[in-house]
Formats: sequence, structure tokens, C-alpha cells
Amino acid sequence: MHRRALVNLKPLIGSERYGDLLRVAGATCERLEGRVVWNISSTAQGGGVAEMLHVLVGYTLDAGLDVRWLVMSGDPEFFVITKRIHNRLHGTAGDGGGLGVNEAAHYSRVTEANAQSVITRIQPGDVVLLHDPQAAGLARPLAEAGVHVVWRCHVGHEQNSEWTDQAWTFLRHHLNACKAYIFSVPAYVPSWMEGSLVWIIPPSIDPFSPKNEEIDRVGVLRTLRRIGLLPGIDDDTPAAFTRRDGTEGLVARKASLVSVEEAPLAFGVPLVVQVSRWDRLKDMTGVMKGFAACVAGRIDAVLALVGPSSDGVSDDPEESDVYGECLSVWDALPIEERRRICLVTLPMEDIDENAAMVNAIQRYATVVVQKSLAEGFGLTVTEAMWKSKAVVASGVGGISTQIEPGTGILLENATDLSAFGHTLFDLLTQPQVIADLGTRAHQHVLDTFVGDEHLKRYAALLASLV
Ligand code: UDP
Repeated sequence: MHRRALVNLKPLIGSERYGDLLRVAGATCERLEGRVVWNISSTAQGGGVAEMLHVLVGYTLDAGLDVRWLVMSGDPEFFVITKRIHNRLHGTAGDGGGLGVNEAAHYSRVTEANAQSVITRIQPGDVVLLHDPQAAGLARPLAEAGVHVVWRCHVGHEQNSEWTDQAWTFLRHHLNACKAYIFSVPAYVPSWMEGSLVWIIPPSIDPFSPKNEEIDRVGVLRTLRRIGLLPGIDDDTPAAFTRRDGTEGLVARKASLVSVEEAPLAFGVPLVVQVSRWDRLKDMTGVMKGFAACVAGRIDAVLALVGPSSDGVSDDPEESDVYGECLSVWDALPIEERRRICLVTLPMEDIDENAAMVNAIQRYATVVVQKSLAEGFGLTVTEAMWKSKAVVASGVGGISTQIEPGTGILLENATDLSAFGHTLFDLLTQPQVIADLGTRAHQHVLDTFVGDEHLKRYAALLASLV
């Protein structure tokens, strides 16, 4: 894991917030002296949990805490089951399969095996943060081994339904062993959970990561040419970025494009972008249809749907099906609409390089969209707001907690494609509104989501455990 220097935050958050952060960090280290804080998640790359953990672990290491991150393993059947739980916690049926005794037995076998391998490395008294449904099954065996177990839930839905109930019934007895629970949004906390054990801690972004570091216009254009989104290479200078370990990286790989034009973007043509995993709940096809119906051809603008190359997210068995559905919808569009829409998959072999690509695409965008049907938190929204972008996003889950009036546009009904399309069209006709939303969005993220608050909340939780 790469250490991230806390001192870098000082010029951004100011001396007072920085001093506060150092005081809290010092006290937490003293309190946890000799203990290790372990994070266990199901993937090291792709998606918001991995993104957030890189930030959290990196800064906590610099604060002096012994913090480590393990990635659990599982077979394809395990990840089909956990994706089902994930979808149901978001209030949807997912693949429609069961969560019965067979699934419970398989889930427990895999999580128990993971727990046994973790137990060989931990000491009684350590703290373990388990992330999401995939890791929940480790709670009981690890608690029995004498560690303090906390479960961090990154997903959820505001309303109870038979789907959410099924998922919670499946998870509940695993979770009873936890000493605390963390959610990003209060509405996701199930009613049976002991309120005094619940912590609400929204995620944060790292302004200095390859995903979010400042890049000038020349660097943005260079990156987009390198990956094949913009036409032409006008110089030989490689597109450089700063890796998480502080060394220089170069964007060398190409994106895979599905587009009518070879290089689908053109200078001066506004770009609308959604960056997401290929997950039905991100509704990439809905974005495409809304854009095709209300924007394409009515105003000069291009839509790019951007996601990881397939196999990029190892714990998501549905991504290639969802990508296939996007391809079919795109294929069926009239040529004039297809001309203005492209699907972009970014290579995942080097996640810093992937992040640099996302950074350049978000910075080049005129408007960033996140039209999810359900959303745990929605880090892409914070990332875009940090880059002073006007964001149009569904008012669901964690997204509603990020966009305050005047800092972006929240869609009341995530399934209303016509309202989405018209909102986007109207916004694209108002450059000053786009600029003003972007300015306020950046300030809001600086005030709320750059990390010191996040770290302080974690510190308070850790201190309460030991
Ligand atoms: N992301 C990425 N490369 C991609 C697609 C997504 O790095 O090709 C990142 C994106 O920038 C964000 C994270 O994956 O940091 C997605 O997090 P979010 O909370 O928006 O959604 P999740 O995937 O956790 O549901």
C-alpha cells in the first residue's frame, strides 16, 4: 500500500482543520498502540470501495497507524450470490435467484475459509473492518478469535422491500458478532440494528490521487489523444501523471471504443459523460436512451459511457452481460444518434493509468451524469464535483447527500428518461449555469469530502472500540 502524506492536505483544508486532524491522529495512534487495523474487501480495484480504501489506508499509514488491507477470495458461485445480495440491498431482484439454504451454505464455506486464513495473521485485540456483504461472513469467526470486528456497508436502499428484507435476513446472523457498523447514509440502516453501534461516515476522495490530481488542459488533451478519444497526436510528449507511489507514470494503453467515428470526440463539442462499472443499477442504457431522445441532434453534444474493460472488476459477475446490453441498445439506434454516442472501456491492467484516464475524461467533460437507479454513495459524483463539473444525477441514496441546492442537479425520478434528457438539454444550452454549478460543486467537496472529516470519524470509531 502506498502512504499518502497528510501534510499535502494542509494547503487545501487550512491550518485549523489540518491541526485538528493531526491532534486526532496522534491520540488515535497512542490509543491503538500495538494493534493492527485490518481492512478486508473483495476486490483491490474497480468500484468505489477499492477507490475509497486506497485513500483511507494511504493516509492512515502516514498518520502512523499500523493499517493493512487484505483482499478475500471466492469462487464464481460465491460472487454470484454476493452480487445477488448486493442487488437486493439496493432494493432490486438482481438475477432473480434464491438466497436459501444452499446459497447460505456456500457463502458460509467461502467466508469461513477466508476467516481461517486471516486468523493466521491477526492478533487478539486487533481491529478488523469488513467491507460489504462479501466480507460479512467473516465477522463471527474473527470475533471468536478475539478481534474487534466492524462491518462497513457501502450499499443500501431508502425503502424496505421484500428484496432488502431477504438480503438482511441472509446477513443478519453473521453481523450479530460485530462491535460496530458503518453506513454512508442513515436511511440504509436496517431497523433491527442496535442504533448505538451505528456510525454514519460518508466516504471521501483524495485530491492528489491519479484520479483527482490537477491536470492542465494540455495534459487532458494529450491523454485523450493517447487513448484514442480525440483525434491526432500533435507532439511526441507522452501523457504523464503521478502514480500513488509518487513516481511518474505515462498513459500508454488505448481505450477500446465503440463509436461510428474512429476518434469520437471533437474539439469544441461539449461532452456529456457517465463513468461507471457496467452494472444495471448505473443505468447506462437509460442514459443512452435519454440522451438519444432529447439531446442528440438537437444540440451539438456527444455522450461517452465509460467503464472498465471486462474482467476489470473481479467480484462482479454481471458486468459483461450489462456491457452486452449497452452494445445492443447502441446498435439499435439510428445512425445519426449513434454518431453522437460512444461506449468506452478503459484498460485495468494498471489502475493508476486507468485512474489518469478517468481523470482526463472527467476534466474534459462539460457535464457529468450519474443516473443510477440506486447508489451506495456514488464517488463518481464527488470526483466530478471536485473537478468543478456540473453534475446531473439521480436523487437516490448517497448521491442526494452529496449534491446540495446550487451545487449540481438532482433528478427527482431516476427512471424518467424524458425528464433526464430534457434537464440535460436545458443545461447544455446554459454555459453560465454550467460554470456556476461547477464552481460551487468544487467548494462543497472541499468543505465536506476531501478526507480529514472522514479520517476523524474513523479515528473516533476506533477509539471507541479499544
Ligand atoms: N472507476 C474507475 N474506472 C472505470 C470506472 C469506474 O476507476 O473505468 C471508478 C470511479 O472513478 C469511482 C469508482 O470506480 O472512483 C466507482 O465508485 P462509485 O461509488 O461511483 O460506484 P460503485 O462502483 O462503488 O458502485
